[in-house]
Amino acid sequence: MTTAYSIGIDLHRTVIQICVLDERGERVAEERIRYRSLEEGEKAIAWLRHFAPSCRIAVEAPGLNRWFANACLAAGLDVLVCDPRKLDLKKLGKKTDRRDAREIARLNCDFGPGGTMSLPEKASGACLCGVVRFTASLPSLSCAHCHCSMCRRNHGAGYVTWFAVPPAQLVVESGADQLVRYESSVHGNRSFCRRCGSSLFCENTQHPDRIDIALGAMVEPIDREPQLHTYFDSRASWIRVGDELPRLGGKTGLEPLPETKREEGG
Ligand SMILES: [Zn+2]
Ligand SMILES: [Zn+2]
Repeated sequence: MTTAYSIGIDLHRTVIQICVLDERGERVAEERIRYRSLEEGEKAIAWLRHFAPSCRIAVEAPGLNRWFANACLAAGLDVLVCDPRKLDLKKLGKKTDRRDAREIARLNCDFGPGGTMSLPEKASGACLCGVVRFTASLPSLSCAHCHCSMCRRNHGAGYVTWFAVPPAQLVVESGADQLVRYESSVHGNRSFCRRCGSSLFCENTQHPDRIDIALGAMVEPIDREPQLHTYFDSRASWIRVGDELPRLGGKTGLEPLPETKREEGG
């Protein structure tokens, strides 16, 4: 069966931008659907069904969009998940939802027939010197930028991006004997490479169901993008954040902050 329509989807927090191309790459339709709940997201699936069975849908990176990819699959639609690095949307110039959906649809055409949904099942990482190598099985549990002072000092960085997996999903393939565990607090410990000093993992006895892995140490992409900022009220005074991700803080690092503390310089 040939695929008559290539559909690109750019999914944002409350808007789904859709672009439909025919087999020659000509634009057939564009649609912008607002949604504030998953039920409303079903409206988009219903709209997409008009193009089934001869269509293939491409969405950018799973992560927060996983529900949508899953809902499409449940509706019997053909879904392809694009690697955002292959899209390079930001390099193409000014970012708009509409253009992004079109680019994703075009990339979808390029894959030709028979593309399959490709969520990464695992991702490998390493320290700077390469002595410590590890693999994290996916799916991950979360991914967030941490602005707490301990992370900043430990990594010598403005903030540190962590993703978490259940401990059983992390396998140290080599250099386990070179990993040093440092107890950074009563509940927490951090592991780093004895040889090069790269900080790799962070564990907390209060959350034994998860281990944090420094995203910057990954060699391969994981299954999601950063979702939020934690301990944002502890951030370095010289850090400027320009993204739209939620900014949380307080005692647990995950509490809503008053407006003033979410703004730059607040
Ligand atoms: Zn090392
Ligand atoms: Zn932290």
